[in-house]
Amino acid sequence: MKKYGVNELRKIFLEYFESKDHLAMKSFSLVPHNDKSLLLINSGMAPLKPYFTGQEIPPNKRMVTCQKCIRTGDIDNVGKTARHGTFFEMLGNFSFGDYFKKESLAWTWEFLTEVIGLEPDRLYPSVYLDDDEAWDIWNKEIGITPERIFRFGKEDNFWEHGVGPCGPCSEVYYDRGEKYGCGNPDCTVGCDCDRYMEIWNNVFTQFDNDGNNNYTELEKKNIDTGMGLERLACVVQEVESMFDIDTIKELREHVCKMANAEYGKDYDTDVSIRVITDHIRSVSFMISDGIMPSNEGRGYVLRRLLRRACRHGRLLGISGEFLVELSKTVIKGSKDGYPELEEKQDFIFKVVAKEEEQFNKTIDQGLSILADMEAAMARENVKILSGDHAFKLYDTYGFPFDLTKEILEEKGLGVDDEGFQAAMEVQRTTARAAREQTNYMGADETVYESIDPAITSEFVGYDHLTYDSKITVLTTENEVVDALSDGQAGTIFAEQTPFYATSGGQEADTGYIRTADGEFAVKDTIKLLGGKIGHVGQMVRGMLKIGDTVTLEVEAEKRALSARNHSATHLLQKALRLVLGTHVEQAGSSVNDVRLRFDFTHFSAMTAEEIKQVEEIVNKNIIAALPVTAENMPLDVARKTGAAALFGEKYGDIVRVVSMGDFSKELCGGTHVSNTGVITVFKIISETGVAAGVRRIEALTSKGLMEYYNHLEETLAEAARAVKSSPEQLTDRITVMLSENKALHSEVESLRSKLAQEAVGDVMEQVILVGDVKLLAIKVDGVDMNGLRELGDQLKEKLGDGVIVIASAADGKVNLMTTATEGAVKQGAHAGNLIKAIAGEVGGGGGGRPNMAQAGGKNPAGIDKALAKSKEILAGQISG
Ligand code: ATP
Ligand code: MG
Repeated sequence: MKKYGVNELRKIFLEYFESKDHLAMKSFSLVPHNDKSLLLINSGMAPLKPYFTGQEIPPNKRMVTCQKCIRTGDIDNVGKTARHGTFFEMLGNFSFGDYFKKESLAWTWEFLTEVIGLEPDRLYPSVYLDDDEAWDIWNKEIGITPERIFRFGKEDNFWEHGVGPCGPCSEVYYDRGEKYGCGNPDCTVGCDCDRYMEIWNNVFTQFDNDGNNNYTELEKKNIDTGMGLERLACVVQEVESMFDIDTIKELREHVCKMANAEYGKDYDTDVSIRVITDHIRSVSFMISDGIMPSNEGRGYVLRRLLRRACRHGRLLGISGEFLVELSKTVIKGSKDGYPELEEKQDFIFKVVAKEEEQFNKTIDQGLSILADMEAAMARENVKILSGDHAFKLYDTYGFPFDLTKEILEEKGLGVDDEGFQAAMEVQRTTARAAREQTNYMGADETVYESIDPAITSEFVGYDHLTYDSKITVLTTENEVVDALSDGQAGTIFAEQTPFYATSGGQEADTGYIRTADGEFAVKDTIKLLGGKIGHVGQMVRGMLKIGDTVTLEVEAEKRALSARNHSATHLLQKALRLVLGTHVEQAGSSVNDVRLRFDFTHFSAMTAEEIKQVEEIVNKNIIAALPVTAENMPLDVARKTGAAALFGEKYGDIVRVVSMGDFSKELCGGTHVSNTGVITVFKIISETGVAAGVRRIEALTSKGLMEYYNHLEETLAEAARAVKSSPEQLTDRITVMLSENKALHSEVESLRSKLAQEAVGDVMEQVILVGDVKLLAIKVDGVDMNGLRELGDQLKEKLGDGVIVIASAADGKVNLMTTATEGAVKQGAHAGNLIKAIAGEVGGGGGGRPNMAQAGGKNPAGIDKALAKSKEILAGQISG
């Protein structure tokens, strides 16, 4: 058998299925497109889901891919088994209602035994318990003897995801030989050890589950298969684990070199080496797909992997930052199959370096705080760290929860998971409430799934704002209907439409859909799978029916203003790259008729000077009145012209390139001005950080900017009126007022302290002796906490050694303060405990240090009782 390399195997697989009439597609991004159910793509099938569910028509009934995948669920296996990575590539052939079991299994066998040349005697298929059809194909058609075909239950061999399409699987295992076995006499196919390695899985989607485990045969059956490229390489190259195959071995050796460690000598060392090797692959690929480290969602997965790699680096004794160097080796090994790695390499290095540096800072601090917490746990003989402590480490010190957990587990300790999650939830709810609510206008999205996937809509809005077309589909909020009548809310689809649906950051058009008999107000326009454009809104008059020819009319002024802001966004992106550098990548944008918002990758706040430069460049290119043109071209050609594209974005084969003179060129489907002069003027209103390494600019043009300045002018006039001045003289007026204010302030200070002294009068008469400690417990009127502390200091001077308790009622509330001098503390006095014991009398609580404490309360009537009680408490303290 020839020992093919990883890059060769990938190619051979794709070509084999191309020869069987499959359409080969490039790997999709790791970021799922239009799929909220999934954080990261974890199989070849995941990005093709709309073709399986029938929501979208596939470009071909047979497809083949090599898909990058992330499985964080396998994270605990990584480094410990020979066959698991968090990142791996999945080879797969797919049939959408075309061929089925017979063809797929025959090809599986032919590919493995004839194309690649694996020994048939080492291969073992498995089928689902009662899938006799698959069993017969393996036995009768492919010729495998019965004792070599295994039957497994639901857990291994049935693919299912709640309601919907599902079906049995058939796996292929490869016997790598006894030396990889666990030695258990029962060890056979299906054992968890590394001897019989699952390399390929065929999923036969043939049933529909109604949710109550009633299975009905699907009319159109599908094939979905998956084979780990690394696992295939592992058996083809006859090496011990996926960490020994050509591309990954080079990376692994790089790790060893950095750590000055030898591979294969010590188990723990090897685990760390493999973890780093695996994680840096995930990290590099995720960043190349536009994922940035953050505390939520996939950004958190990235952060966690990166930090875990750092920590294992420390365990190996690597000092300083090392991940960027390793990332270079990842790129070198995989750029053949994934050119985006090389295209984005500078960016990947920047993100990795920044995150690693930041983590190194937090980890030292976090480790020492965790060590303190562990010591406290040992003293109190507890084995579980409280959720609040774990949360504090995470929230205040940025120390990852998983790391806390791992470190404690290594020492046989635990952490209160639920308590941590509860603390986290409290924080999330607060954050969520603070965030602005984006309300999705429109129906329950599942209603759209029942629309015939063959129906699409043509967008004619680049050239038209009004257009006549025929209604193809109508829905209410929860069902497809034949007509909508007065007052009903719903969604209208037509053959053609000038309405722009929200996408590429540009917010949707609004407007009207009319006939002589009915009128519908469009509040939002949405783009659905399969190229359907839905107009969401409400009937305002009469009735509209399927098949009606309607006039679709976009609200023109809103569109015109959005176009200005959108075109300005392109100029802004280019200007940012000129001023800040080419690491600037779009990380999100939002454009409407009022303003534009642009998120981009950059690692520090912009200076005032940089902001000014960017504004000047944009305005210069507005004044130059550059022509704006749009052209459709193949994606490859567009890339060659240097058009800026969103990375991680799923583009079709033909893309639209929008150019503004020679200044800017971007892939964009949005609606633009015809000439940059139309934008009139541009101004940045704010520049802020939204996540680590991501900045946000908000800016205005034309009408929005005019309104902004009008508002500023009004505010200024109002401010001037308030201080009886004019806008021109406002600054002088404020300067004068500030110095007057300062003079008044110092006068108040001196009066206040005089008053406090008078209020006290000759209080020294009230000093009593508790044992031989002097106690002064008094009540004063209307003094706040600051005043009380000042007063306490003065009294202490007069009193000498002793304890002072002062209570004051101010604005219906009670302020309490106690101090104990060093001598009194030595005799047992404790100001903090004292105040804690008496604060209840004034309906409050508090505490503090032995020498100083304060408290608040709500019940002024209790002051006398509290003061009296202080004598009793102090007596207890000094006698005990
Ligand atoms: P296992 O039980 O070994 O974890 P699986 O049942 O999770 O495998 P599938 O979900 O059927 O695997 O995925 C299809 C193929 O993808 C597998 O046959 C294997 O070749 C590969 N694969 C799955 N998980 C991983 C992983 N974590 N690392 C590398 N390859 C993987
Ligand atoms: Mg698995």
